[in-house]
Amino acid sequence: MTQFDAVVLGAGPGGYVAAIRCAQLGMKTAIVEKNLWGGVGHNQGGIPVMSLLRSADVAHLLTHDKEFYGITGETSCDYTVAHARSRAVAERMSKGVHFLMKKNKITEYQGWGTFKGPSSLSVAFDTGVVETLTFDHCVIAAGATAKPLPMVLPGPHVWTYQDLVVTPSLPESVVIVGAGSIGVEFAYILAGYGVRVTLVESAKRLLPDEEPEASALLLLSFSFSLCGPAVTCGVVFASAGVTALPEQVGWVPTSPCFL
Ligand SMILES: Cc1cc2nc3c(=O)[nH]c(=O)nc-3n(C[C@H](O)[C@H](O)[C@H](O)COP(=O)(O)OP(=O)(O)OC[C@H]3O[C@@H](n4cnc5c(N)ncnc54)[C@H](O)[C@@H]3O)c2cc1C
Repeated sequence: MTQFDAVVLGAGPGGYVAAIRCAQLGMKTAIVEKNLWGGVGHNQGGIPVMSLLRSADVAHLLTHDKEFYGITGETSCDYTVAHARSRAVAERMSKGVHFLMKKNKITEYQGWGTFKGPSSLSVAFDTGVVETLTFDHCVIAAGATAKPLPMVLPGPHVWTYQDLVVTPSLPESVVIVGAGSIGVEFAYILAGYGVRVTLVESAKRLLPDEEPEASALLLLSFSFSLCGPAVTCGVVFASAGVTALPEQVGWVPTSPCFL
């Protein structure tokens, strides 16, 4: 049993920054992470997606705006290269988290944390060994995971953002359920690499949590883009809708669906 002033559960952007702050305040600090250091943000979210977005931007340009920018000659865009770059960026950022933990003298535990009481937590390592940590303070920064639709389980034809971000190959076509920021980002990335994208949103507009002006601008941009996604708003994509949807949008149901 090891005693700490502060234990942080989860090493995502929320957790590792909290751990650094605890250490800076002079606390003996530990951080517990089961999977990827840097959490969703560094490994499956904003960081790798920004890298993919930049690549998709260049792909859009080379595919549709070459002449406008005075680019001549044969060009082709390889998604596997873009994907490998995004994974390399994610890996580098994840390594950076270890560096910051070491620099701030924070003890790392790579395992699954389970509370045993108000001031104790057990950490189960992959080896089967379990260690107990006790603490005066604990920060819970366990993050979130993808939320599947009722009765639609992720599988070969139903992916979450996590599947998409780690898969180096692309489907021919895809339905993206949800036109919030993550949905529209992936729509742009996939469309940039020639995937036929249908974006489905139950609210009346794209980006329903943002200002209506942003939704209108994005819809305009998608509508004018030669390879932009087809957008269907105001459609509830319930479990039964998986089979009903293709008729609504005139789309052949052979492709994966992305939640
Ligand atoms: C596709 C996508 C794009 C995004 N783009 C952006 C963006 O552009 N800008 C932006 O600001 N945000 C973006 N986000 C959101 C951002 O990723 C999250 O807000 C951020 O990751 C939340 O950080 P967190 O530390 O709270 O949780 P997480 O990053 O989810 O980290 C939680 C960590 O806790 C670990 N954990 C959970 N339970 C336990 C346990 N019991 N024991 C041990 N470890 C545990 C998990 O393994 C995980 O590593 C995006 C998200 C996604 C999915």
